Amino acid sequence: MTEIFTGDFTQQEPIPQASIEAAMAVLNHGRLHRYNTAGEEIAETALLEEEFAAQTGAQFCLAVASGGYAMTTALRACGIGHGDTVLTNAFTLAPVPGAIAAVGATPIYVGVTENLVIDLDDLKSKLDQARVLLLSHMRGHICDMDLLMDMCNAAGVTVIEDCAHTMGATWNGTPSGRFGKFGCYSCQTYKHVNSGEGGLLIGDDPEAMARAIMLSGSYMLFERHRAAPPPETFAQIKYETPNISGRMDNLRAAILRPQLADLPAQCERWNARYRILEDGLRDTAGLTLPHRPQQEGFVASSFQFLLLDWPAEAVQKVLDRCRARGVELKWFGGAEPSGFTSRYDSWRYAASHPMPASDRILAGIIDMRLPLTFSAEDCALIGRVIKSAISTTWQEINDSSNT
Ligand SMILES: *Cc1c(COP(=O)(O)O)cnc(C)c1O
Repeated sequence: MTEIFTGDFTQQEPIPQASIEAAMAVLNHGRLHRYNTAGEEIAETALLEEEFAAQTGAQFCLAVASGGYAMTTALRACGIGHGDTVLTNAFTLAPVPGAIAAVGATPIYVGVTENLVIDLDDLKSKLDQARVLLLSHMRGHICDMDLLMDMCNAAGVTVIEDCAHTMGATWNGTPSGRFGKFGCYSCQTYKHVNSGEGGLLIGDDPEAMARAIMLSGSYMLFERHRAAPPPETFAQIKYETPNISGRMDNLRAAILRPQLADLPAQCERWNARYRILEDGLRDTAGLTLPHRPQQEGFVASSFQFLLLDWPAEAVQKVLDRCRARGVELKWFGGAEPSGFTSRYDSWRYAASHPMPASDRILAGIIDMRLPLTFSAEDCALIGRVIKSAISTTWQEINDSSNT
């Protein structure tokens, strides 16, 4: 029996009808710029910020053009610029070191553990090398945030959270993005809400958020925001902060508001799919599943497993066998960066030191998206395809090492 999967790993769900109707209203009146309002009208962008702040429990929220822009703005608002160093994950995606490079700073990479979270021992040894940690909750894996915050607070290191993969997720009941000075989110098509492009920035620090709002290109219109610090906070900041335009527009905000209302239900749908795959792959010889601690309220918009210490040719064989049956897996250990599978040593604009313990993990990480267009049966089928590819290849490895 050779089952073939025919679904598409990059196909998201259509935009919900409520979003389409809200978008049509904006298109019909034509006031797409967030500060272009008629009379007493409240801009969609301002409403989005107000709602996302309430949803996450943050004091302040700023909607921006992308997740990458949210991160550069957070770094700038924390005073990071040319010549500074910033701690960040060795296991993340290109926009993260890119944000650090964009402000003229240099990343210092921190290793990854078998559970695909930042290595807190490695972090501890590097805390004296920077005053900011740009923490990427890569692929939705959340480290022990209580411990991390204790360590960073004690060392005087400011934490900025990259929540591109943790919108809707929690640690010990606290939303991801609420631990650091800023939480940064992406609203582009492959994340948890979809406006094509877009980003959100949340935080409780009035001065830092006032700087972020000025940076985003608010001219002197910050009083039109509804999740911003009071006007007094801007008194000096408005003169001192350059405008680096990266606002969100009302069309995207209109598309996003109904999706944020749906987010909790969507998160459950992702996790139901994750559990099916996890159940299907449990107890597969040669395969390691990351442990998900009980405190982690994750949102599984993607799925990872490890083929730890496998020879590269054997990993490639698993990928080939899966692809032949319609299952596209991504491999972080590939020799060349392809698609989004880049890793710290592929960002050659920023020098890195060898990290053998992390290299061992990265060489074994296999990754796939879990779009909500997949049914429960799709997930079960994908699980069977992967399990069979791994079992066959594992058998071959063991046969050849026994002869
Ligand atoms: C997508 C992504 C971002 C940034 O998102 P953009 O909106 O594309 O700029 C940041 N961090 C991670 C880990 C991402 O995957």
